[in-house]
Amino acid sequence: MSDGLRDEVALGCRILATEDQGDFVWGHVSARDPAGRGVWMKAAGWGFEEIGREEVILVGWEGEVLEGDGRRHIEYPIHTELVRARPDVNAVVHTHAPWSVAFASTGQPLRPVSHEGTLFVPPEVPRFTRTGDLILNAELGSDLAATVGDRSAALMVNHGIVTCGADVTAGVIAAVLLERACRTNIRAIAGGGPASWSSDEEALSKRARCWSPELQRQAWDYLARRAGG
Ligand SMILES: [Zn+2]
Repeated sequence: MSDGLRDEVALGCRILATEDQGDFVWGHVSARDPAGRGVWMKAAGWGFEEIGREEVILVGWEGEVLEGDGRRHIEYPIHTELVRARPDVNAVVHTHAPWSVAFASTGQPLRPVSHEGTLFVPPEVPRFTRTGDLILNAELGSDLAATVGDRSAALMVNHGIVTCGADVTAGVIAAVLLERACRTNIRAIAGGGPASWSSDEEALSKRARCWSPELQRQAWDYLARRAGG
């Protein structure tokens, strides 16, 4: 029953590898267990590009490994607490996305310079600033979930990103687009700008036009083909 979900989580990991969001063996994708036991999550010790179905394990609400072989990541509370806090969220991504980390450190607001940024702005992307250290317990995970609020992403300053969605596609595409948006902002800053970006009205219009669930699915399908299916 869970094989399809495990395959999706694994493919999400491999897509993030092709987007250069891997950090050695750190960073993870998870999906809510349909039976309510916790989250199906990438196992520890593997890089994103190495993940197949067997490297996706069921992690319970308190971090216990309930199914599958492998160790769980110590930052599992990022996933369990966000899924616990958000009934509408069925997938969570956490990576140490390098452009996003660099961008968040500038303290500058994310501008919708390109299409990608319009998925998130307006309003400004939430920033988790309580710590740049690891999220090792439920209390920190819950605090991070509160920072995300009802949004699909947050910048974890001096650490990485967290994104979420109604399914693995939405969670992974949000991670891909946030990192690309931060990369574009860094490039614009490096070029002395940005001097222009979409107004709130235009950004919201582009969000609906460019990033509907159907177009997000098309982007996922392309990334999946590029990642080898
Ligand atoms: Zn981390």
